[in-house]
Amino acid sequence: MKIDILTIFPDFFRGPLDYGIVRRARETGLVEVSIHDLRNFTKDKHRTVDDRPFGGGEGMVLKPEPIFECLESLGELAGRSERVVGDAKQSVILLSAQGRRLDQSLAAELSALDRIVLICGRYEGVDERVSEHLADREVSIGDYVLSGGELGAAVIVDTVTRLIPGAVGNEASTRQESFTEDAFAGRNARATRDGESGPSSTCVSGGLLDYPHYTRPADFRGMVVPEVLVNGNHDQIRRWRRRTALAKTLRNRPDLIERVALTEEDKELLAQIKGRS
Ligand code: SAM
Repeated sequence: MKIDILTIFPDFFRGPLDYGIVRRARETGLVEVSIHDLRNFTKDKHRTVDDRPFGGGEGMVLKPEPIFECLESLGELAGRSERVVGDAKQSVILLSAQGRRLDQSLAAELSALDRIVLICGRYEGVDERVSEHLADREVSIGDYVLSGGELGAAVIVDTVTRLIPGAVGNEASTRQESFTEDAFAGRNARATRDGESGPSSTCVSGGLLDYPHYTRPADFRGMVVPEVLVNGNHDQIRRWRRRTALAKTLRNRPDLIERVALTEEDKELLAQIKGRS
């Protein structure tokens, strides 16, 4: 996948994309990230990227010209309505607090594309003509206001990259993570469940939060790992994981319980959990 980031702070990305899964994905060519400095697309000697808002009001607004010209310099990008060149599917995304909120299903959708372009706003925001005529979607990383789109772009690069087949060593692990419903998981969902063995194969989160994880030592300062996890009974482990995932989701994110399709076993486990609380 190709990822282009348009920003007035290119150095911002020196750190966040240089670690772990994203670094490896870049090194192996699974993702190719290019950072574009919007100031290189200005024409005045001060390299001005912002101006005062029409109609008055606070702050400055990012001008449209550098953004349009930068995008046009990227070549082979399709028009806004189709966003397909040959077989390559693309999306031009404006980072915005007013956008569709990023979640695992949107990340999965984006991970199936061949190219994404991320436009980072600053100041009071970006001239609206970028949203109206250039970007095909606006994406928010949460209901709060950031100073700029760069953090949001880094979040999108991270969450999208780890869903690209081959980016995470054990691909099954991205399927069993929090929020991952099979229907949402795009390509990853197609890996067969049947071909796997062991308790984790049947512990996909199914849209709930992930189950708790423990590692050695089994006894740390008197805090002991749940017995069921060390007894080797796969079916008991699977049930325990599902029950604890349901319990945590009920406690922290009850909205997710409303959304997912619960199995008969889930309903039975939920009844037990509610009976105990
Ligand atoms: N005036 C805007 C508003 O009230 O919606 C906020 C502008 S914000 C200070 C500057 C830039 O930060 C935005 O243009 C956008 O690119 C980015 N930004 C702010 N909050 C964001 C969020 N929750 N998700 C993604 N990008 C965000």
